[in-house]
Amino acid sequence: MTEPTLECAACRRPKGQHECPLCQDHFCRNCVRFRVDSDFEFAHAVQENLSHSKVCMRCFDEQIAPELSRYEETLERAKQVIIITSAYRGHTPVTKKALTPVVVENCHDRDETILRLAYQAADQGFNGLIQTEVTAKKIRNHGHQKSEWNGRGLPAQLDENKLRLDEMREEVWRSGN
Ligand SMILES: [Zn+2]
Ligand SMILES: [Zn+2]
Repeated sequence: MTEPTLECAACRRPKGQHECPLCQDHFCRNCVRFRVDSDFEFAHAVQENLSHSKVCMRCFDEQIAPELSRYEETLERAKQVIIITSAYRGHTPVTKKALTPVVVENCHDRDETILRLAYQAADQGFNGLIQTEVTAKKIRNHGHQKSEWNGRGLPAQLDENKLRLDEMREEVWRSGN
């Protein structure tokens, strides 16, 4: 017995072998959008309806594209988040703080750990991350040794003008010594 030929719900070609998990219609390969690795890559939690391996173009445009652009906008802000480590002893001009720290685990390297922490801070609307700690733990995995990176930090709103002034003062102080 052969499978009945399904018509693509978008272009009507008789090649609708891909079912869209969101609308349950069938589509051909050309009329679905396959998930790429960079989709929501640094987001801390991705809703289930956004993480399917493929969806039809209409569902993509209606449900996923707006969330992807929101994600990309947040990621751009995350890259601007000011990171202050727990070792920093200077004055930090904090105007507002989150109630709970953000945490990430199992990252590949330091940059990824910091970007994932910063993403959460940006997602909560903060421009800084204070008391930031990033640690690497060596783990053995079938004879290979690799590092697993973990991090935590407290999202905070920093007064950027004051921060710049403090930096300038520090520069002056340093150059005067
Ligand atoms: Zn099609
Ligand atoms: Zn669909």
